[in-house]
Amino acid sequence: MVFLSLSARILLNVEALNMVESVGNFIRHRRAPIVVPTNTGFILKYVPVLSGESLAHAYQELLADLAVRLGIKVCDNCRAGYFIKHSDDSVLEDWAKKVKDKPEEFEKAVVQNCVVEDIGGFLYAGAQPVKRTSRFQVGYVVPAYDALTTAAVEAQFHVRYAKELKFQSIYNIEVGSAVYVLGFNLDVDGIGILSSIKTSEGVPKEERLKRVELAVKTLGFMLSNSFFGAKRSRFTPAWKVLNAAAVVSHPIPITADPAHTKDYVLTTMKKVESFKKLVSSGTLKFEEDIWVGLYKSKDETLPEVKGVEEVDNIVMLMDKALDKILKMIK
Ligand SMILES: [Zn+2]
Repeated sequence: MVFLSLSARILLNVEALNMVESVGNFIRHRRAPIVVPTNTGFILKYVPVLSGESLAHAYQELLADLAVRLGIKVCDNCRAGYFIKHSDDSVLEDWAKKVKDKPEEFEKAVVQNCVVEDIGGFLYAGAQPVKRTSRFQVGYVVPAYDALTTAAVEAQFHVRYAKELKFQSIYNIEVGSAVYVLGFNLDVDGIGILSSIKTSEGVPKEERLKRVELAVKTLGFMLSNSFFGAKRSRFTPAWKVLNAAAVVSHPIPITADPAHTKDYVLTTMKKVESFKKLVSSGTLKFEEDIWVGLYKSKDETLPEVKGVEEVDNIVMLMDKALDKILKMIK
């Protein structure tokens, strides 16, 4: 299984990327409880977070946009940014209705007609249910454990006022500021391959390679431009990718360690080395191909790590990762 795993530390200041509710004229930032290790044990903290759903929405929206430009098929709802997908009879097109009672054919038809649902998965809850697991995995973006004392949420006061109209609108928006940790995994081998018959291609190999390229380039596009989250029309955050590590592995998927402490690249690399040793010893040996790439800005000092390919920015990191992925697939 060719697998891509990415961990990043991103500085986001005065962001309102994931808001949850309005109480009167007060709009709250999403918060979540997290358990954090300290020198004296674990503590519980409530911190500003961005949900995985929010990230997944942004990623799939960009996937759809790029796919349309590049002539890769996307269904009408996904193209419009409505990710209800092929979930229910009421939203099926004629071509989908024809095969809705044949689960394997249904999955194949959806994969062929929509790259977003190929990569992002779907769940059809009809009489013959069909489940296609998402080929990418994201989770909550939370403040880094080692920078928690500098994470904050604060309500900002705003007013719109027109004296002649005797109009005044007061509203408060909570903004968050923190060094956030983002993780993203991509099951590259699953793209274009059916879930119902694991070895069966949903699309021809040439098309699969295009879709793999699309998936990785979209990730680079999203991260290098901070195109995720909501409320960017008036609350575009001050942001910077501080550092990011990418791991490409085959055949066993290896993940990049979460970037909660600055030694995450070091611990990832130690894990990689130990894993290589494990699979090359004993009687059950096999070859594991692993590449680790790193981008780091000058804003944070990470421990020196050997065996990692360093690049100048996050776009180059994705470019190198794509290069490795395409070599491993072939
Ligand atoms: Zn779709």
